[in-house]
Amino acid sequence: MAEDADVIVVGGGLAGLVAATEIADAGKHVIVIDQEGEQNLGGQAFWSFGGLFLVDSPEQRRLGIKDSHDLALQDWMGSAGFDRADDHWPKRWAEAYVAFAAGEKRDWLRAMGHRIFPVVGWAERGGYDAMSHGNSVPRFHVTWGTGPGVVEPFERRAREAQASGRLTFRFRHRVDALTMTGGRVDGVSGAILDPSTVRRGESSSRHVIGDFTLRAQAVIVASGGIGGNHDLVRQNWPKRLGDAPKNMISGVPAHVDGRMIGITEAAGARLINRDRMWHYVEGIRNWSPIWPMHGIRILPGPSSMWFDASGRRLPTPLFPGSDTLGQLQYIMSTGYDYSWFVLTQSIIKKEFALSGSEQNPDLTGKSWLMTAKRATNKGAPGPVEAFKTHGVDFVVRDNLADLVAAMNALSGDHLLKLEDLQLQIEARDREIANPYVKDAQVMNIHNARKYIGDRLIRTATPHRILDPAHGPLIAVRLNILTRKTLGGFETDLDSRVFGSDGQIMPGLYAVGEAAGFGGGGMHGYRSLEGTFLGGCLFSGRNAGRAAAKAVV
Ligand SMILES: Cc1cc2nc3c(=O)[nH]c(=O)nc-3n(C[C@H](O)[C@H](O)[C@H](O)COP(=O)(O)OP(=O)(O)OC[C@H]3O[C@@H](n4cnc5c(N)ncnc54)[C@H](O)[C@@H]3O)c2cc1C
Repeated sequence: MAEDADVIVVGGGLAGLVAATEIADAGKHVIVIDQEGEQNLGGQAFWSFGGLFLVDSPEQRRLGIKDSHDLALQDWMGSAGFDRADDHWPKRWAEAYVAFAAGEKRDWLRAMGHRIFPVVGWAERGGYDAMSHGNSVPRFHVTWGTGPGVVEPFERRAREAQASGRLTFRFRHRVDALTMTGGRVDGVSGAILDPSTVRRGESSSRHVIGDFTLRAQAVIVASGGIGGNHDLVRQNWPKRLGDAPKNMISGVPAHVDGRMIGITEAAGARLINRDRMWHYVEGIRNWSPIWPMHGIRILPGPSSMWFDASGRRLPTPLFPGSDTLGQLQYIMSTGYDYSWFVLTQSIIKKEFALSGSEQNPDLTGKSWLMTAKRATNKGAPGPVEAFKTHGVDFVVRDNLADLVAAMNALSGDHLLKLEDLQLQIEARDREIANPYVKDAQVMNIHNARKYIGDRLIRTATPHRILDPAHGPLIAVRLNILTRKTLGGFETDLDSRVFGSDGQIMPGLYAVGEAAGFGGGGMHGYRSLEGTFLGGCLFSGRNAGRAAAKAVV
């Protein structure tokens, strides 16, 4: 049967766009298929904060951060905790990815016009020993223009290829099956969905108006993860994290439905590490939702006090921003699937950032003036203040008694006792008077402020939580928010997929979240953050280059 293109890419998210543009630039013809409409091009990456993991960058050096490939690899391996036979390719991907992040990643992006905000963030700080989880130094480089700024160079390249006839988009085409001839994947078939005018990110209809079959020499699966499908998340939930939460909110749009993962597996592809996922514990329900159960993740600075549902402070070193999965495991062990931040206006002003392009109009809009106001404004950034006013998970009161009463009313569980919280907050507050202390979280605040980036825009001057001069008091109910799929299709470094028989499946590639960002899970158990977009860039690029070479 005649081919419709050299290569078919399933998914027009970041990973698919990167793969497709590499193929088109190599002079081959590629079709990009997506179940959503054209308005959704770029997938999740558009909504992202645009944070990128880079190692020993000029931005880090300017801030006095001494980073190196060896330090980053030590941190990566300490976080990943690779421990199974299936980790052979994930580990090789991890090594290759850290070398990419310490090598050509920044220059490659820069040559396409990508730019970085000068203050480097410090995500996943760990708090254990040097060989365990966490970033030893700040490495989270926010894209100037956030998520749209990451998508832009690849969309531009794709549009150029489209204009020259080397790339064709097929929107509202939903792939339902991979086709195979003589053991080789040679196309896709599926349903044509009715045209959709919903806004980007909103759920679109699944009304079928036709069907299609397309043929090519190779197919690249770039269909994202499972985070929008809570049934699948619960089904794959690992026992080590306790029971799956009853209540979760969604950090991703509904198109992150995991359906194509099942379809690809049914065609014989080997899915590994499906029990590894990356969900956040600082989720707040969006007061102005775009997608179903839309939640936003707070990217917290280190000062908020963190209490479980019963009012016990989370144990050391589970401070805000230290160890996402450690916190998830602890919270699920309490028997409740929510927890609380208690903080002051001074803390929210300096330390709350919300992950997502639409929550950061200053950075997304590339406005230096608006961004500078983060440091000088009296209040928190506009979107944070809006959550404080409209968000259902926020409680703002002038005194602790009223705050605790309102927290109990909000949860409906009435587990919190004023005297318990007061005792713990006053004890912590007594530790503030000296710059050297016993309380590990307060020590952690002093440590953070030794880094100029944190001192400037991320860590409030240490103060007593109950000091009215820093009020009002704020409590935030934190929900579990689904986001990333760390496992995926097992691939070699060319992103070629292995079959269930352990052999490469000719003609089939997998990239981005569908491939666990490379190899079937290059993060292992835990991420250092900013590694997901980067994983899409790296795996998409490898697959695109390899597939372009392989087709004749
Ligand atoms: C709010 C938010 C903030 C984030 N912030 C960061 C950050 O700062 N740093 C970072 O590294 N990562 C971040 N991420 C994660 C990152 O954006 C995603 O992991 C990444 O963009 C996934 O890209 P992808 O191309 O693999 O998949 P997707 O973006 O999910 O794209 C997959 C595409 O495939 C299509 N598709 C699926 N199935 C089919 C089918 N059967 N037929 C046809 N089409 C199909 C979908 O419609 C979709 O368009 C964030 C994510 C979100 C949502």
